[in-house]
Amino acid sequence: MVSMSKQQASEALKKAALNEEVKTYLLQNPLLYNLLLKAARRYIGGETLEQALETRQKLQANGFATSLEFMGESVSTTDEANEATQEFLKIIKALKVENKPDRVSLDLSHLGLFLDKKLGTENFTLLAKACENSQIDLFISAEGMDRTDEILNTYLMFSKEFPNINITLQAYLHRSKQDLEQILQNSRGKIRLVKGAFDGPKELHLPRSTELNKRYLELFETLVRAGRYCSIATHDPKLLEQILAIIKQNNISQYEFEMLYGIGTETLQKLKEQSHPCRHYIVYGKEWYLYLCNRIAENPDNVFKALVDIIELS
Ligand SMILES: Cc1cc2nc3c(=O)[nH]c(=O)nc-3n(C[C@H](O)[C@H](O)[C@H](O)COP(=O)(O)OP(=O)(O)OC[C@H]3O[C@@H](n4cnc5c(N)ncnc54)[C@H](O)[C@@H]3O)c2cc1C
Repeated sequence: MVSMSKQQASEALKKAALNEEVKTYLLQNPLLYNLLLKAARRYIGGETLEQALETRQKLQANGFATSLEFMGESVSTTDEANEATQEFLKIIKALKVENKPDRVSLDLSHLGLFLDKKLGTENFTLLAKACENSQIDLFISAEGMDRTDEILNTYLMFSKEFPNINITLQAYLHRSKQDLEQILQNSRGKIRLVKGAFDGPKELHLPRSTELNKRYLELFETLVRAGRYCSIATHDPKLLEQILAIIKQNNISQYEFEMLYGIGTETLQKLKEQSHPCRHYIVYGKEWYLYLCNRIAENPDNVFKALVDIIELS
């Protein structure tokens, strides 16, 4: 009998996620669309901004902070980039009206940066200004390894003018230690520390391993020692234990725990009960298919959760 390892299952799911034919077939079939949407609801705040704001309100009522993202990346037309920018402006306006400014997070490729640098920069300027006026923290996500330079340079350029712009650093990249030095010397913003989600050349990054966790801890210690605010964005229980020990030993206060909505919910709840600042990262929108596949691929056991969601919610 041929048995499949979790690693193989994960790789197969990632490939399936990128298969446009499969995606189109699934999403154009109303029955399949609705079944998959039931599974996706565990991980998304909704398909519309209104639904995401409701999700956010419930979490805030329970004492959590939130990040909000309109899902999408790597647009292929100017119209798509501008539409995404308009949607982000709607989020910023909605958060301002609520008078509970919080955090907005985005991929620069969603605004068109990798389609047309001028377009992406102009769109990002609009959002940076709107966030500054509304006292909202704007976080730039980290993307594929071929995009790190452009994203870092854009962050450093904007950070000079906008103190509320913040960056995500991927611990798995070998270059991240040097990038962190540059960030610490040339910017003021908060830093979200993640392990890293994208595949890429082996020589550029570490796979999931104790070595990667060690590097994550080193980066964490470097940035908090420099007095910078760290958003600790991992669901890894072992790593979290080690981070908690460092926080306690060194009396660190410039941090929070941030996890993807629908993942690590119980862990985040426990951390909140122990009085640690905690944040859920909520994504919303209609482009949830790839997002769902990625969450399942990260932990193939989530397939069972998806099946239960589909059956229970039917
Ligand atoms: C707030 C936030 C923002 C992020 N932004 C970016 C970004 O901008 N760029 C980027 O490259 N990556 C980003 N990521 C993703 C990140 O890089 C990792 O790919 C992802 O968080 C999984 O890694 P991990 O650190 O949780 O631990 P892993 O080493 O991947 O997993 C360790 C353990 O965590 C738990 N776990 C991890 N994932 C899941 C899951 N899907 N379901 C259930 N349990 C799970 C399991 O117990 C697993 O054994 C972000 C993550 C978070 C939380």
